[in-house]
Amino acid sequence: MHEERRDESGRYVQVDRRTLLRGTALVAGGVLLGGMTGIPTADEASASAKPKVYTRADWGARNPKNKIEVLAKAPTHIVVHHTATANVSDTSTSHAAALSRAIQRHHMDNHGWSDTGQQITISRGGHVMEGRDQTLRAIGAGHHVVGAHTANHNSHAIGIENEGTYASAAPPAALLASLVDTCSWLCLVYRLNPDKAIVGHRDYNTTGCPGDKLYSLLPTLRSDVKAKLREQLSHLSEIAGTELTLEDLPTYPAVPEAERAAAFYHGPTLGERDTSR
Ligand SMILES: [Zn+2]
Repeated sequence: MHEERRDESGRYVQVDRRTLLRGTALVAGGVLLGGMTGIPTADEASASAKPKVYTRADWGARNPKNKIEVLAKAPTHIVVHHTATANVSDTSTSHAAALSRAIQRHHMDNHGWSDTGQQITISRGGHVMEGRDQTLRAIGAGHHVVGAHTANHNSHAIGIENEGTYASAAPPAALLASLVDTCSWLCLVYRLNPDKAIVGHRDYNTTGCPGDKLYSLLPTLRSDVKAKLREQLSHLSEIAGTELTLEDLPTYPAVPEAERAAAFYHGPTLGERDTSR
């Protein structure tokens, strides 16, 4: 049961009545956060754990070509990617902003997509940048922006692009720390169990992404995220009951021996089951 509504900026968003009811339960669960008086909204729960995220305005994003689809439901998975770009030593915010612009340019002008494909980008300096239009607003509302980063799974997976190529090199500590913070925030807002929700691109599509090295760090990432969530939630079991349909489970395709070595190419991003571009 869906209906369209305008949000405060006048954009149309889909509203699912059942999701609205679920949102009520989320607010009730928010009491567990502690330290807050009154009933925290999803936005407040998000704000308490939100890392510094540079907005699209901060990095000078272009407007999307088409209206970005926002689903009135939470994603079920967080997909970790690498950008398949150089492991640069520039850790500045200006470099992070330039990277976001370069990815957006590639996705819009070379692929012809509506906007940048991923929802979040993290630079090697650890700077967290908003990706696709509407992302920060949607996360604040517990909703999902449909991106273009993991073929056939864009309707239920939020994507994080980590700058660099991690086939053999390890990501810098600053990037990993921001990845933990970002995943903790998303797991808290969306009530996701890190053990089930955090996956690599290769778990869904035939690709080496996010590189053998970063992929091998996912178990550590999951446990670091759980440790951080324990600080934020007194009852971790509240988020351990994530229900996943069989369709949402990673399929573990074979990882190819070699991929096309082009900057920004990190495997299949769109499939016939995706509605986004
Ligand atoms: Zn990827």
